[in-house]
Amino acid sequence: MTTPLKSRIITHIKNSGPLPLAEYMHWCMADPRDGYYANQEAIGAKGDFITAPEISQIFGEMIGIWAVETWEALGKPSSFNLVELGPGKGTLMLDLLRIGNAVPEFLNAAQVQMIETSEKLITTQKQTLAHHDNITWHKSLQEIPPQPTLVIANEFLDVLPIRQYVKTENQWREHAIGVDKKDNLVWTLGTGILDSDSLPQDASSQPDGAIFEISTIREAFIANTADLIKENKGAALFIDYGHGKTGFGDTVQAMRAHGFTGILEEPGLADLTSHVDFDALAKTANSAELQVSALVKQGEFLLAKGLIERAGQLGHQQSPEIQEQLTQQAERLALPDEMGNLFKVFEFGTVKNRD
Ligand code: SAH
Repeated sequence: MTTPLKSRIITHIKNSGPLPLAEYMHWCMADPRDGYYANQEAIGAKGDFITAPEISQIFGEMIGIWAVETWEALGKPSSFNLVELGPGKGTLMLDLLRIGNAVPEFLNAAQVQMIETSEKLITTQKQTLAHHDNITWHKSLQEIPPQPTLVIANEFLDVLPIRQYVKTENQWREHAIGVDKKDNLVWTLGTGILDSDSLPQDASSQPDGAIFEISTIREAFIANTADLIKENKGAALFIDYGHGKTGFGDTVQAMRAHGFTGILEEPGLADLTSHVDFDALAKTANSAELQVSALVKQGEFLLAKGLIERAGQLGHQQSPEIQEQLTQQAERLALPDEMGNLFKVFEFGTVKNRD
């Protein structure tokens, strides 16, 4: 399928040669004119994919419990940043702030800082949070004022571009996108070669064609978050799908209308993501000398925070249909073969409230 972005990418490749995957992903997702987040509905039933906060209000509420516990561990600062990276429709923050009904001092102290690049989603977030004060929107972490800081992010890291390297006879060559004679986008090899220091030890035993992924931009977001927290005290909670140990394999996927599509098929119209290598990110947070908690599965995290109890409370004196709906939502978030195992919770900070 031809898309406006596809024509621009083809022209660029013809002029300048193959486009590395990371640049292709960045272009597809972030181009201000034809990119995915500038134009598409993205999240929800009418969009391309559904995220945990859109499945159940309990998800954001459980993160609210984490936020209050962490704020308490920090000594209940009377003013602090509550930062969310990539807040989507603003639903997680709306549900999180509900905890303010139970802990008003927390709500009074919270300066909510939303970091979002999509103008379209900023508009949606402002509508969702219209009844809350003390919310400011930013384009980057550098704009956050210096004071104790909690950072949360759900399904943010997976949208950031990655590089892929493909094993050839004796080198790991960058995976790139070229154009064939019929003007189709096709996979090819770029000029980049990965230094062996950046590869895991067992790289030499991988077969030809094996793929290794790196996301320097994810590492940069974690490093910036770690610096902010180290300077001001605080903690961060990143939830996303991915793995706890660096490995090999192609994890890039394209989604449109709740189904998978080809990565090169519909640039700008499909959501491009990949699995997060939490091992690599833990190394980044460790090198900032912060306390990094053991990676836990989303299911375990939510159960420990009180998912079942909250579902029971919400279902109390409701119809059997509503109770059934709440059960299904909780199962979707927490069961091992649903989101419970694939999604992981990555936490670091100057304090920690578990293990
Ligand atoms: N957290 C939300 C949305 C996930 S989708 C949820 O769970 O529903 C990814 C979000 O990250 C979108 O809001 C997207 O616009 C935003 N985003 C993508 N790249 C970004 C960047 N570089 N800086 C800030 N936000 C970004």
